[in-house]
Amino acid sequence: MIKEAIIPQSKSPCAQPGGGGPLTYEFDRSDFWRSIPAWRDIDPETFGDFRWQQRNSITSIQGIQKTLKELATPSLIADIEAGLLKTPMNLRLTPYIFSRIQWGNMENDPVRRQFLPLGSQFVPDHPHVMDDSLAEDSNKATPYLTHRYPDKALFLPITLCPVYCSFCTRSRVVGGSTAVKSKSTYGAKSTEWDATFDYIRNHPELEDIVISGGDALLLRPNQIRHIGTTLLEIPTVRRIRFATKGVAIMPMKFTSDKEWVEALDEVCQIGQKRMKEVALHTHFNTDREITEWTSRAMKSLSATGVRVRNQSVLISGVNDGFDCLHYTGKKLSSQLIQPYYVYLHDMVPGCEHLRTTVQKAEHLSRRLQGSIAGFNTPRVVCDAPGGGGKREISSYTLYDYEIGVSAWTSPTAKPGEIFYYYDPIHRLPQDGQALWANKAEISRRLANFKSEAEAKAEATRH
Ligand code: SF4
Repeated sequence: MIKEAIIPQSKSPCAQPGGGGPLTYEFDRSDFWRSIPAWRDIDPETFGDFRWQQRNSITSIQGIQKTLKELATPSLIADIEAGLLKTPMNLRLTPYIFSRIQWGNMENDPVRRQFLPLGSQFVPDHPHVMDDSLAEDSNKATPYLTHRYPDKALFLPITLCPVYCSFCTRSRVVGGSTAVKSKSTYGAKSTEWDATFDYIRNHPELEDIVISGGDALLLRPNQIRHIGTTLLEIPTVRRIRFATKGVAIMPMKFTSDKEWVEALDEVCQIGQKRMKEVALHTHFNTDREITEWTSRAMKSLSATGVRVRNQSVLISGVNDGFDCLHYTGKKLSSQLIQPYYVYLHDMVPGCEHLRTTVQKAEHLSRRLQGSIAGFNTPRVVCDAPGGGGKREISSYTLYDYEIGVSAWTSPTAKPGEIFYYYDPIHRLPQDGQALWANKAEISRRLANFKSEAEAKAEATRH
């Protein structure tokens, strides 16, 4: 039985007034990091040096204690310690993003929530979560390349990042082992990339190559140059995108690492001469991550001609309110960053407290449409678990919001297959939660749902 949804109106913690009059875009120009006890004497020049940011990144509980000093209460430290025993992601925050956290309201802070897991906030995993929820490994064409869509491929030359996000979809490989997850993280080894380039050369249908990871920010300038020029020299490759969270978490990289920006600039110039697009896809989730440092980074990047787009993840208690998504989208647009996607949170382990429902995402998508110029309105999508690829949030074949299961088809990437997304159980209506507590009942209901979805998918195939 499919019921109509009643959507509660929610305000997200990063909310700015979104309706009616003109918006003002405020960019924090203050020395905000000086509110962190260990950085009271750090001047803007030092703070604005990417090497200082890398050297002073927080990677351990001891690092948090040393940096926060009196702000690190014993209960906070115990809660983070408990969180680290449950998460598949390691701890790494740049000083920039660490000092965007409002430590006085740390528990509900949308920036803290993305990077620092609290044991007290964890919720047991949904029975259907998967380590590799997007089936990237089973679609591997070479050890570094996933080829799923006909004309696009995903190149993963590195699995290290300058920060580690609690919600990472590649938590199975990114960022080293944790108490609950052992993984084979790898750094960039350019001597091993030839088979990947050869594969792309031998598949002329591949027009778009995404260079992700991990984070392209940690590729050395000569590696950016090597990847960029090799790909652009392949006649059939039309567009390349470097994926980096850098603009959101270490914007000073783009003003203080001249060599890296020059390498990107060279790649952009080659692209321009060949009428090929070079883009940088970044990852802001809230407007709190956008400051005066972002504006400076964007001025530097704009000079290279690179096109910058943003991909957000919809995260409960972070950006799952219209005001937040709307204001963040508008503020990014004001900095020449095009809001591109808002992803429904993938079904990966250790993230249940951060996920939300298809119903909520659909509601937000409807509200966003028409509230920003079309080309700056992000597409809200579900990356269909099991490798169906990105699907518009309202394009499911069937959705039972009570038990939180939706069925999706993917006629281009995987014709004939059906993919299922499961909403987090603790966000379902009471009746739905009760059904999940009864194994026999939920199996019956899921079996009925699946046969109905198959029949519907079959009917629309012809
Ligand atoms: S920056 Fe991207 S790849 Fe790295 S941990 Fe965050 S979400 Fe994962």
